[in-house]
Amino acid sequence: MISYRIVDLLSKPNHYKTVIVKGWVKTFRANRFIALNDGSTIENLQCVVDYKQADESLLKKINTGAALEIEGELIKSMGKGQSVEVLVKSILVHGEADPDTYPIQAKKHSFEFLREKAHLRIRTNTFSSVMRIRSILSFAIHQFFNQKGFYYIHTPIITGSDAEGAGEMFRVTVLDPKNPKLNDQGNVDFKNDFFGKETNLTVSGQLEAETYSQGLGNVYTFGPTFRAEKSNTARHLAEFWMIEPEMAFFDLNQNMDLAEEFIKYTLNHILEKCKKDLTFLDQRLINEEKSKPQNERSPMGLIEKINFVVNNDFIRISYTDAIDILKKSKPNKKKKFEYIIENWGTDLQSEHERFLVEKHFNAPVILYDYPARIKAFYMRMNDDKKTVRAMDILFPGIGEIVGGSQREERLEVLESRIEKMGIDKKELWWYIELRKFGSTPHSGFGLGFERLVQFATGMNNIRDVIPFPRTPLNASF
Ligand code: ATP
Ligand code: MN
Repeated sequence: MISYRIVDLLSKPNHYKTVIVKGWVKTFRANRFIALNDGSTIENLQCVVDYKQADESLLKKINTGAALEIEGELIKSMGKGQSVEVLVKSILVHGEADPDTYPIQAKKHSFEFLREKAHLRIRTNTFSSVMRIRSILSFAIHQFFNQKGFYYIHTPIITGSDAEGAGEMFRVTVLDPKNPKLNDQGNVDFKNDFFGKETNLTVSGQLEAETYSQGLGNVYTFGPTFRAEKSNTARHLAEFWMIEPEMAFFDLNQNMDLAEEFIKYTLNHILEKCKKDLTFLDQRLINEEKSKPQNERSPMGLIEKINFVVNNDFIRISYTDAIDILKKSKPNKKKKFEYIIENWGTDLQSEHERFLVEKHFNAPVILYDYPARIKAFYMRMNDDKKTVRAMDILFPGIGEIVGGSQREERLEVLESRIEKMGIDKKELWWYIELRKFGSTPHSGFGLGFERLVQFATGMNNIRDVIPFPRTPLNASF
């Protein structure tokens, strides 16, 4: 007989009579009621054991965490709390879980504790909900681009160029760290290394994706990226996943339109497909908020927040206008910001971004036309020669979720910017050459997948939206 997923049994119970289900025990009450979960839904299936007939030694093995295969009859439930239940005919215990040592008991565990049990935390309601949503979100992302005729391309993970400028890189090497061959200058000679040169893990697939957009039209990457930044924040990982579309013939406005449509599409998708998980996480957040002081509580619940983003236009303002707002703002005048905004040209800190998004506009904000000095070399110079066609999307509770720009397509302008910023032109020869042959106006952006998952699930810490987080001093599992 085939076994069934619990989600199917609960959603169309009339299709089934005798069933086999396989999963893990959440709780076992009164030697009689097993709450079984198989990961297919947040809901458990109640399986009722006739304990008078059951073997004592079997009952002893039914503990939280044990893996069971249950055969029984699916009936309408007498009790409240569930519509159907299984009258157990037989139980096969695949794997026991010792109640004295199994760490995931049926009580609330702190996220810090669960990070140390990352191999088992998926058995909790919160993590299974988050990871189901993560999976469904990634599917929605592919679906969005597929429907729009974008091609999914795979950019390299090992890169030979260190000029991408997005952050500190992890070196990839096979040299013996104890005894690397040195060159005449006394430096490590990477000519002897695997690739015959210095190589690193990529911080972004953008530059390579750009080349493919200049032939395929619209493309996107969705892959892992690596940054050896030591920022131990709730929004930074050393290894994270990024979605990076690149579009030939797109200007910055089209780029912003696409990014907004894209985010709304993926969030809409989970509103439709992940109702139960979202309801659970919504409630979790409400409980968590209760422990905060009144003035720090979020005015909106999780589902409300997602709906708000889906149903409202993102605010679009230029960096210059944002600086004006910030200069005149209360926290700036009263010196409440750690970094006081005085002059045009300074980079925005997350306190400023939060003020704009959470206090001033109370909505997602797209900031565009940043000072050239604080942005990457590849962003298109505006006619004012001071600002570039950059855009960042800022989200409530998250901060920057997207960074993008119209790319510089003019050969001379690009070359002069590379020189001005002191970047080695040699490594970028192919990127520059793209501007010599059939160059087009083009644009793209990068969305940090984990930050989107954070927003969609209401999880505070980015370490709790990826299965095995990589952060400074932490690469266990
Ligand atoms: P931040 O200022 O938050 O460090 P960034 O300006 O370095 O971001 P970009 O280089 O523009 O970010 O990368 C594009 C997107 O990738 C960001 O908008 C963000 O969503 C995500 N991102 C960047 N760095 C990280 C990281 N260390 N961990 C997780 N996501 C990240
Ligand atoms: Mn960064």
